[in-house]
Amino acid sequence: MSKRQQVITRFAPSPTGHLHLGHAYSAKRAYDFAQDRGGQFLLRIEDIDAGRCKPEYEQAIYEDLTWVGLTWQEPIRRQSEHFDDYKQALGILDQKGVLFPCFCTRKDIRREIEQSSQAPHDITAHSPEGPLYPGTCRDLTPEARQVRHDAGTPYALRLNMEKALSLLGDRTLTWTDLEAGEQAATADILRSLLGDAVLARKDTPTSYHLSVVVDDHLQNISHVIRGKDLFHATHLHRLLQFLLGYEPPIYLHHDLLCDENGIRYAKRDNSQTLRNLRAEGHRPADLLYPQAQFCSV
Ligand code: GLU
Repeated sequence: MSKRQQVITRFAPSPTGHLHLGHAYSAKRAYDFAQDRGGQFLLRIEDIDAGRCKPEYEQAIYEDLTWVGLTWQEPIRRQSEHFDDYKQALGILDQKGVLFPCFCTRKDIRREIEQSSQAPHDITAHSPEGPLYPGTCRDLTPEARQVRHDAGTPYALRLNMEKALSLLGDRTLTWTDLEAGEQAATADILRSLLGDAVLARKDTPTSYHLSVVVDDHLQNISHVIRGKDLFHATHLHRLLQFLLGYEPPIYLHHDLLCDENGIRYAKRDNSQTLRNLRAEGHRPADLLYPQAQFCSV
C-alpha cells in the first residue's frame, strides 16, 4: 500500500521554445486528473540546459498555461536551482558502482558504431534516443581514466547498465500505466532501449532522466501524466527509482496530439504555438477537446 495519500500531478516543460497544442493537452490532462481527485497540480520548469533555455520562453509558459485556464501550486520548482539534489543522487549511484565517466564525443560514438557494425554481432541498435552507446569507455582501466582526467578531457557520467541489472538479482521491476496496465522493466528492454544512459551530461551536471526521477520523488508526485513519446523512458526511470530507493509513482502515458496532416506537434514547428492560436482569437476549450486529433503511435 502506497504511503502517498494525496494525488499530486505535474507538468514539466522545458523553456526551449513556445508551447504548442500538444503541451496544452498534456498539461490539461495532468491538471484535470488532480482536480477531479481533490489533488494538487504542480508546474516544474526543466531548465537544466542553460544553452537552450531562455527566460522569455519560461515567461511565455506561465502566460500560455494561464490562457489555457490552469493554475498551479507555488513555488514552482526550477531544476537549475537544484543541482545539489542531482549531485546527491549521483553520489548514491556512484557508491553503488553503477556510474562510469564517458569521455566520448558524438563523433567517437558514431565511429565506434560504424566500425563494430562490420562485425558479425549487431550492436548498431537504435534506441528512441538515438544509437545505443557501444560501451567505449565502460571498461577503461583506472589508469586510462586518470590520463584523461589529468588531460582535463570533459566527460559525461553514464549508467553502467549491466552493473545496475546485476544489482537487481532475480527481481523484475514493474510499474503501472493507468491505460496500458502493468509493465515489466525487463533486462532486455533496458538493454535494448536505453543501454548505458547518460545521467550527467558534459555541459550540465545532470540529465533529463536523472533530474526527472529525483524531482518526481522529491515533489511526492503520485501520478506522472505525460505523452506516449516518453513511455520507453519510464523503464529506465523505474530502474533509477530502484537504485535510489524511491517509491515509483503511477504513470499515465497519453496519446499524442497531431495536426490536421497527422504530424505530431513539435517545438520547431511554429504554426500551432499557443501564442499564435491566442493571437488568432481561438479559445483554448474549443481547441483541446472537440477537435483534438491523435497520432497513431
Ligand atoms: N521536460 C520534458 C519535456 O519537455 C517532460 C518530462 C516529463 O514529463 O517527464 O518533454
